[in-house]
Amino acid sequence: MPAKRTPARELLFGNLWEYDPAPETAKAHIDERYGLFIDGKFVAPKSKKYFDSISPRDEQKLSEIALAGPSDVDAAYQAAAGAFKTWSKTPGLERAKYLFRIARLLQDRAREFAVAETLDGGKPIKESRDFDVPMAAAHFFYHAGWADKLEYVTPGRTLAPLGVVGQVIPWNFPLLMLAWKIAPALATGNTVVIKPAETTSITALKFASILQEAGLPPGVVNIVTGAGETGSAIVNHPLAAKISFTGSTAVGKAIQRALAGTGKRLTLELGGKAANIVFEDAPLDQAVEGIINGIFFNQGHVCCAGSRLLVQESIAAPILSKLKLRLKSLRTGDPLDKNTDVGAINSKAQLTRIQDLVAAGVSEGAEIHQPVCDLPPKGFYFPPTLFSNVSQSHRIAREEIFGPVLSILTFRTPEEAIEKANNTHYGLSAGVWTDKGSRILKMSTELKAGVVWANTFNKFDPTSPFGGFKESGFGREGGKQGLLDYAQLI
Ligand code: NAD
Repeated sequence: MPAKRTPARELLFGNLWEYDPAPETAKAHIDERYGLFIDGKFVAPKSKKYFDSISPRDEQKLSEIALAGPSDVDAAYQAAAGAFKTWSKTPGLERAKYLFRIARLLQDRAREFAVAETLDGGKPIKESRDFDVPMAAAHFFYHAGWADKLEYVTPGRTLAPLGVVGQVIPWNFPLLMLAWKIAPALATGNTVVIKPAETTSITALKFASILQEAGLPPGVVNIVTGAGETGSAIVNHPLAAKISFTGSTAVGKAIQRALAGTGKRLTLELGGKAANIVFEDAPLDQAVEGIINGIFFNQGHVCCAGSRLLVQESIAAPILSKLKLRLKSLRTGDPLDKNTDVGAINSKAQLTRIQDLVAAGVSEGAEIHQPVCDLPPKGFYFPPTLFSNVSQSHRIAREEIFGPVLSILTFRTPEEAIEKANNTHYGLSAGVWTDKGSRILKMSTELKAGVVWANTFNKFDPTSPFGGFKESGFGREGGKQGLLDYAQLI
């Protein structure tokens, strides 16, 4: 029997800090079965196969999802190629209206989409409600703004669409990653074949109904579902002018090999092992909040998560004790509860991977800190975890865990911090906490990371390009730079 969870003594005023359950009750409106969304309508897969989508919250079956085979993917590409003939010539002002409508419809149905996202992926409802869905709508609004102003992206040159783009996305931000990919593609006049991850297809399929409601011409966006083989069929289809992939570095490398010499454009958004660096002059309590957000946001299923904390040696002890205290006040459990901070792990496979890496951390000699949690009896859950006494060679300091697990290392000088932070195959993001503006500028210049946050972490905005260095990939999503990746200069 796990011990009963007690709130941190230091935060107690009687029992006032215990929360009553606050379940979100809105309906997610999930169909029992979904077909493939091709040429503006749902169709049964030619493969005749379906797979179950279960909720990591309680392991209940949510829906049956069509498994697209190569001929289904081909049908999606044919539809997209047909639609490209008119869509690419549709004036920017008209394309903008569709994007704007999609954004507004997403806002109208925000609560329903938030519940569906939480049920399907396991993330806390307060995150899907306050981050994923509003940010997805924001990407459509932002790109609606660009669609009729493309001539200002590269003054004197014209941006032309590429053709049909194939897009493959992961399970950690299903609707948001879809928005990151579809919005710039449509704004620049391309048509799309997109595949969500196999564990989180539902919000993409619900999104198809938004496209229908918005009156988007058939074939402009086609949504096919399935696992790696379906993704591979998208990548290797001869009609693809560009592939945009977000997912693991291993699959990204395989895609890059497969596309070599084909002339297809490629964007890869891959893994990360970000350093969150705290100097002794930083505001410590703010930094602690940033560290907690950096690693426990979305259960740590975040490519840019601050999963390696680098603390200046002189403040290592107070930071660790503040973090341990803060850890006790995190509420882990039912993601549909509005008070939950850390929800369910996305899948059993991901839970096993986290457990294996945590076991490696313990056996390699790092010191583990976990709060006592009452985890739900069904579903996939893992307590928020800190490791102190971590060295650079430990697996938990080198490998992407993609879970709620923070590895804490120390440094003495800024040079040592930079060297340790850059000592990784990845280069997606980093954080710097200090009172000194000049130090922020120096660190952000020397850190090999696509995004460097200063005195904050995990801040996103559609206007800001996002992407990696080294094995975190190449190409950018968001901002003007993201548009350029979906267009050719003529
Ligand atoms: P994954 O690579 O296993 O899967 C990602 C997607 O690729 C899924 O839709 C999957 O079905 C598909 N896929 C799998 N094999 C394929 C193949 N051979 N060809 C084509 N498609 C294939 O990764 P995952 O476990 O779903 O996602 C976690 C990874 O994604 C983490 O490493 C994380 O860092 C990364 N990620 C990166 C970003 C970013 O912007 N850099 C954002 C989110 C996630």
